[in-house]
Amino acid sequence: MSEAPLTRDAWAEIDLGAIRHNVKETRARVGRKPMICAVVKANAYGHGALEVARTALDSGASVLAIATVDEGIQLRDSGITAPILLLSEPPVSSIPFLLEKSITPSITTLDFALALGEQADRAGLVAPYHLKVNTGMNRIGIHYTEVIEFLKTIAFHRGLKHEGTFTHFATADASDDWDFKIQLSRFIELIEAMRLAGVDTGIVHCANSATTIRYAQGYFDMVRLGVSLYGLHPSSVTYGKMNLKPAMSIHAKVTHVAEPAVGEGVSYGLIYRSPGNVQIATIPIGYADGLRRNLSDKMKVLYKGHILQQVGRICMDQCMFEAPLSSGLSRLNPLPPVNVGDEVVIIGEQGGNKITLDMMADQLDTINYELACGFGMRLPRVYV
Ligand SMILES: *Cc1c(COP(=O)(O)O)cnc(C)c1O
Repeated sequence: MSEAPLTRDAWAEIDLGAIRHNVKETRARVGRKPMICAVVKANAYGHGALEVARTALDSGASVLAIATVDEGIQLRDSGITAPILLLSEPPVSSIPFLLEKSITPSITTLDFALALGEQADRAGLVAPYHLKVNTGMNRIGIHYTEVIEFLKTIAFHRGLKHEGTFTHFATADASDDWDFKIQLSRFIELIEAMRLAGVDTGIVHCANSATTIRYAQGYFDMVRLGVSLYGLHPSSVTYGKMNLKPAMSIHAKVTHVAEPAVGEGVSYGLIYRSPGNVQIATIPIGYADGLRRNLSDKMKVLYKGHILQQVGRICMDQCMFEAPLSSGLSRLNPLPPVNVGDEVVIIGEQGGNKITLDMMADQLDTINYELACGFGMRLPRVYV
């Protein structure tokens, strides 16, 4: 268990050993050949980009992927020298930063490709890029039927180097594999056609976490690990299919305890009223920390191994939970009175009980990805 940081009694604990474990499990899964690309976009899904990047590179990953140019600049300015792949095409105005910081963009338009090539050439550089192919997700990318022609159009440019070709799956985590197989076969056909036409493919990659866990045909030259790097499953479909260790847990210390009289309300709107004979304990974590307000009166917390109910509306920076005073929770393990300074677990394990990001995501009808990103917004991170 980590210590609270000096300035706040709410924190995210990040287990870098878990990140290491997840990279190693992936290496065991994919074999020696494919490179492992650690997807550290969105501040490493809330886990801290720099610390995760260093740990992943140190345990078998060789490439990093990001979503915005600023994320790449931050990594470079912190001394990261590994290849950094930007997973989308940024605005043309960002090209000087790409060149200066050696960030490899994805290309999806002719305008951007030409601008990149010209600016690189003027600077005496050759800019590497990965071509993003749309095989059916229809988000970004060159349509798979137009790739060869596109590459031939820009092949003349001495300022450009085609370093990789990739696609992304819309349904790799779905129980039905019909659409996945269509996307995969379009991608395989394209790669074969490129080889036949004498067009260099560069590094071929398409596997996100779900593909890496489920489909060996998707490995090619590199796999892109996002959510599974953090020990989270892409969906319930992969439960039990890989031994992942969650890296993030969320903790807080009680800052205030009271025993409001029967009928007294708690928090904004007073939607909860004390039934009497309960303690109301406050912890300094709220929706600005990623503890979503829709969890109000629904979520649980762990206190000394007991599962207790959060009550009243979750505020921006604080929320409350209820601790029954003469609790019938269990004669063998009675609930002790709550004191200021006691630790509460919001996500994680305590005394044999567990609250996971997946459980919280189910309550909110969302996915663990979104919640992990949210907890990265403001909480201080403690690395263990
Ligand atoms: C975010 C992202 C990934 C990682 O996806 P996970 O499901 O988290 O593994 C891989 N590739 C692309 C293009 C992405 O945008």
